[in-house]
Amino acid sequence: MATTGELRDPTATSDPLVAAITTRIPGIRILADPIDRESYRYDETAYLRAGLPRAIAFPTATAHVVELVRIAREFGVPIVPRGAGTGLSGGAAGIDGCLTIAFTAMDRIIEIDRENLVAVVQPGIINAQLKAAVAAEGLFYPPDPASYEMCSIGGNLGTNAGGLCCVKYGQTRDAVLSLEVVMADGSVIRTGGRNIKDVAGYSLTHLFVGSQGTLAITTEATLRLRPAPPPRSTMLAFFPTLESAGAAVAGIAAAGLSPVTLELMDRVTIEAVDDMNDLGLDRTAAAMLMVESDMPGAAAADELERAERACREAGATETVRAADAQEADWLRQARRAAHYALERKGDVRMEDVGVPRSRVPEMLRAIERIAAAHDVRIGTFGHAGDGNLHPDLIFERGDPQAEAKTDAVKKDLYQAALDLGGTVTGEHGIGAARRDWLEKQKGEDAVRVMRAIKAALDPDGILNPGRVI
Ligand SMILES: Cc1cc2nc3c(=O)[nH]c(=O)nc-3n(C[C@H](O)[C@H](O)[C@H](O)COP(=O)(O)OP(=O)(O)OC[C@H]3O[C@@H](n4cnc5c(N)ncnc54)[C@H](O)[C@@H]3O)c2cc1C
Repeated sequence: MATTGELRDPTATSDPLVAAITTRIPGIRILADPIDRESYRYDETAYLRAGLPRAIAFPTATAHVVELVRIAREFGVPIVPRGAGTGLSGGAAGIDGCLTIAFTAMDRIIEIDRENLVAVVQPGIINAQLKAAVAAEGLFYPPDPASYEMCSIGGNLGTNAGGLCCVKYGQTRDAVLSLEVVMADGSVIRTGGRNIKDVAGYSLTHLFVGSQGTLAITTEATLRLRPAPPPRSTMLAFFPTLESAGAAVAGIAAAGLSPVTLELMDRVTIEAVDDMNDLGLDRTAAAMLMVESDMPGAAAADELERAERACREAGATETVRAADAQEADWLRQARRAAHYALERKGDVRMEDVGVPRSRVPEMLRAIERIAAAHDVRIGTFGHAGDGNLHPDLIFERGDPQAEAKTDAVKKDLYQAALDLGGTVTGEHGIGAARRDWLEKQKGEDAVRVMRAIKAALDPDGILNPGRVI
């Protein structure tokens, strides 16, 4: 990998943008070689068209980010903020000629404040590393995307990431108290503090979370922690039809239960996960739910018993409990790896629709109907407790029709979700992948307000242009 001192490409050394960055921010790591820049063209949506960044800079301090923004403005170069590049909407993918600001080297935990139950972190820290660090102090940072071992807190804030325990603890937005951000004009603002309650002015924190790097660049975050809950108790329930599994999700909610995990896998996904992990799952089942409780002692047993009753009433044919914490971890890890298990079957495109919980059975039925209508294999899994499903479209590798079929299937999936009062994206974001659908979902007037906010905060459109709106 080339760094400034040893560039292989002679044109890169003569790039005035790169020269300005290395002169004004001495010692900053920067990639300018075309081969290195290629690695930053895509996020996890490699099937989307993306541009080649002109340079990738790795700041280590907020002051570096401020200077990078100033330089980008002077050169009229768009900026793409980037965390770990695991995004599934093309938000961190390259734009031709852009400056990608990668936060990999701004990855410190600045403070864990036990009295106020907060952690102050730089955006590049990986979610799992933060979780482990606070767990060592007997504390818990809830947001847990399935990708938590790879994705960064900055990216989680950028997408308002969800995950497996949102059903109980909410999305990333619910775990943020304050951000330090660099605005498009290079100014630095702080949006809050350590107060649990703070209603002074507009909630800029909540505006920036989920804005996918289009309104401001996050350089520090103050995150809410909780005391660590007890280890989880885990149950699997198998169903003869997708609909009965959907009915169980609605039944668990209707019974007033609040499990920490309520995840679904359909038969295609069960088979793929079982092939990869050899867990002995019931491969004849049409669907499986994973239900977990993190209540203390007998309360956990009671919660799982009541969930089991709701599953049986909805038609579950079999329920099994994890024998111990180790087995529960294996099952959870297997669920987290569902997407990669399906990727072993072909080229996969992951979707991210959401519906009100009570309408999960109808959405599952719609997915089956759409798969049949387009003759496309779909494996569906996801955060059923949030009404958030990931239909993974699976194509033979190199299928020339994959792109056209994906477009057609997406159109029907999104329309079905909207018809059920749902959303075209529950947690992955509009990014570059779903822009056509924002107005259809939110309406012309709401998008006009969003555009006005973007124009006010980034009048020259240098922050991640062409994403979200
Ligand atoms: C196997 C797999 C499973 C996944 N499971 C889940 C899941 O359960 N739940 C979920 O929500 N997502 C999931 N994802 C998607 C992805 O991991 C999340 O969207 C994650 O939040 C992205 O983090 P990242 O660090 O990779 O960000 P990136 O992909 O690098 O960036 C994501 C967005 O945030 C912006 N951004 C990054 N850093 C900053 C910053 N410092 N300031 C401003 N903007 C910034 C980028 O511009 C981009 O728009 C999964 C992905 C994979 C591959």
